[in-house]
Amino acid sequence: MKQILVLNSGSSSIKYELFDMDAAGALESGLVERIGEGESRLKQTLPASTPKSPSQSRSIEVSVPDHRQGMDLIRRALSENASFAGGQYLVGIGHRAVHGGETFSGPTLIDDHLIRTMEELVPLAPLHHPANLIGMEVARSAFPEVPQVAVFDTAYHQTLPPHAYRYAVPQTWYQRYGMRRYGFHGTSHAYVAKQVARHLGRPLAELNTIVFHLGNGASATAIRGGVSVDTSMGLTPLEGLVMGTRCGDLDPAILIHMGKESGMSVDQMDGVLNMQSGLKGLCGANDMREVLSMESNGDQAAALAVEMFVYRIKKYLGAYHAVLGRLDAVAFTAGIGEHSPQIRARSCSDLETLGIAIDPVLNTAVEPPICEIQTSDSRVKVLVVSTDEEFEIAEQTLACVQS
Ligand code: AMP
Repeated sequence: MKQILVLNSGSSSIKYELFDMDAAGALESGLVERIGEGESRLKQTLPASTPKSPSQSRSIEVSVPDHRQGMDLIRRALSENASFAGGQYLVGIGHRAVHGGETFSGPTLIDDHLIRTMEELVPLAPLHHPANLIGMEVARSAFPEVPQVAVFDTAYHQTLPPHAYRYAVPQTWYQRYGMRRYGFHGTSHAYVAKQVARHLGRPLAELNTIVFHLGNGASATAIRGGVSVDTSMGLTPLEGLVMGTRCGDLDPAILIHMGKESGMSVDQMDGVLNMQSGLKGLCGANDMREVLSMESNGDQAAALAVEMFVYRIKKYLGAYHAVLGRLDAVAFTAGIGEHSPQIRARSCSDLETLGIAIDPVLNTAVEPPICEIQTSDSRVKVLVVSTDEEFEIAEQTLACVQS
């Protein structure tokens, strides 16, 4: 048996998931949260033993002052799981890492050089990289004998051509400061594109797909033959679609104007655009379920927020259709993409001339993990796919340690 442990380290949490790679399934997942905040907690979930039985969860309140002790707690929790068998089958640990800049275009073994390079990239991901680096450090000392791999959210998009990744600003901004489109959600887009090809029984290399990852963060990617050729998020995850609390596309002059007129500092504007904008800025709620229910109760601000959300998706769908030329499939994934028939239907309404039509019955009877929802005469397949970023990280980690 080959097992891979996937870790996602945040500023006050560590998420983990242990996979049996031969069975392509999870053996355990969990989360240590509120690290260093006094009332920390370990949540542990063991999957159902049969498809009909429920999964088992437990939550333990425990003091976890720092990430090192959080990692120890995870190691102890794993050692209680008989399938872990003391770690004898653990062949690799995969770390979710946010920003690989232009340096990392695939999964990479973690060594001192990688750590130093990630430290140099901190200015590109000031909130995420320090937490990612702590996670790597504590996991390396907790499991010194196990190879560890960094899987970057940006890596999948390193295939973008320059005309898609450059911004039309002076060359020196790119050369000196690295101002370019990097793209994010790469593991999700890569995973979903592969699942679509597998489901349709077609080689990934022949398939042109647009993937919409619609969660609290949202992004679209144009994928030609399995390769990302354009994506909506940019230097940071702020660009592109309307999101839960992020604005998405914006005239950059708005910032200049607001800086002059309102006296807000750069940090304040950063906070507003990342945390107080998007659906939340438009109607006060960032959870799409709440926004849709407000809309159905006649809230005009919520109705506009939903309309802007689906309109932006439709714009990217049209643009990426043109980028790809021939379009074979559109895939919806993540919280909203997987669970909201209304958002899918409204995003794809009146697109028959582009060969895209959703069947209203199929759209409301979606069965995970993958389902087609187009009408019988829709030229383009439309699919709903359950994303699994952790499993994609595990697969990339295994491939990296085996090579
Ligand atoms: P994620 O970031 O992938 O966990 O997705 C979170 C988003 O999915 C939130 O905006 C949720 O409101 C949304 N979501 C989850 N379930 C539904 C649903 N049944 N209908 C609409 N939105 C949903």
